[in-house]
Amino acid sequence: MERSAVVIGSLNMDIAVTVERLPAEGETLQGVGLVEAPGGKGANQAAAIGKLQTPVRMIGKVGADRNGAALLQSLEASGVDTDAVLTSSGQPTGVALVTVDRAGRNHIVVVPGANGELTKDDIDSRADIIEQCDMIVLQLEVPLETVAYALRKAKALGKTTVLNPAPARKLDDELLQFVDFLIPNEHELQTIAELDQIDEQSIERAARLFGEKGVGALIVTMGERGCCYADRSKIKAYPARKVNAVDTTAAGDSFIGGFVAGYLASRDADTAIRQAQIAAAITVTRHGAQSSLPTRQEVEALWQ
Ligand code: ADP
Repeated sequence: MERSAVVIGSLNMDIAVTVERLPAEGETLQGVGLVEAPGGKGANQAAAIGKLQTPVRMIGKVGADRNGAALLQSLEASGVDTDAVLTSSGQPTGVALVTVDRAGRNHIVVVPGANGELTKDDIDSRADIIEQCDMIVLQLEVPLETVAYALRKAKALGKTTVLNPAPARKLDDELLQFVDFLIPNEHELQTIAELDQIDEQSIERAARLFGEKGVGALIVTMGERGCCYADRSKIKAYPARKVNAVDTTAAGDSFIGGFVAGYLASRDADTAIRQAQIAAAITVTRHGAQSSLPTRQEVEALWQ
C-alpha cells in the first residue's frame, strides 16, 4: 500500500490585503487588493502534500460556518481526505488577517477560533487514522497540550513525526523527545533554542542539544538562503534555487509538504529536502497560500 501522512493542525480562512509597503505602527494605509483564500499552517501543509499526489488525511477543527465549508472543499480539491476534520458547535472557523507588500514581505494576525478547541479527546477519537498512516505532521496553531499528546501517541504507534514549531514558542523536553524531524525557520529556531543569532555553529549546537533531548534531526529553513540539515553527527547546507520571489506566504508550508511527500517516497532525508526546496521555490514565485502550492508534475519538471 502507498505510504501516507496525517496532518494534525489548523484550518484558517486567510483574508489578505495587498499594500505598497507594510504600515508602520499606528499608521493607516490604503490597500491595493483584497483576497479571501483558504489557509492555516495545518491545512496548507496538508494541501501541499495532497497536491504532490501523496495520500494525506487532515485532523483539525472548523466552525459550523461558511468559512469552514469552503476550507474543507478546497482541501478536497487539493487531494486531502477531510473526513476526520471535526466541527465545533460554539467557535467560528479560524481566521488569519494577512498584509503583504509588493516585495512579498508579510504581517499575519491569527484568530484561532475552532482551532483552539482541538482536544486530546479529539485525537483519541481519530486514533485509527493515526494508526493507519506512516508519518504525522504537526505545527503549533492548535493547543500545545494537544500537539504534545498527538506526538506521544504517534510515536507510541511507531510513526515518523514532523514538528514545524510555528508560530514559535518555547518547547519542553517532554514534547521534543517524540519529534523525528524538527523543521523551524530561522526566527522560530531563535525562539525555541534561545539563540541570539543563526549561523552554522549555532545550528550545529542546537541540533546537538535537541538530539540529546530525543529529536532525530533539525532542518532550519532560511528563506532565500535555502536550508540547513543538522543531526548529532552531521550538518549540511542546501542553497535555495534562484527564482523571482513575489510572495513568500506558505513557503515554509510548501517546504514541509515537499519534505513529507519526498520522505514517504524515499525514506531519505536528503532526497526529501531537495524535493522540499523545489516545491518551496515554486511557491514563492506565486501569490497566495494554498493557491501557490505546486503540483507533482511541476516539481518533477525541475527534478534532476
Ligand atoms: P517560512 O515561510 O516558514 O518563513 P522560509 O522563509 O525559511 O520559511 O522559506 C522556506 C523555504 O522556502 C526555504 O528553505 C527555501 O527553500 C524556500 N524559499 C523561501 N524564499 C525563497 C526565495 N526567495 N527563493 C528561493 N527559495 C525560497
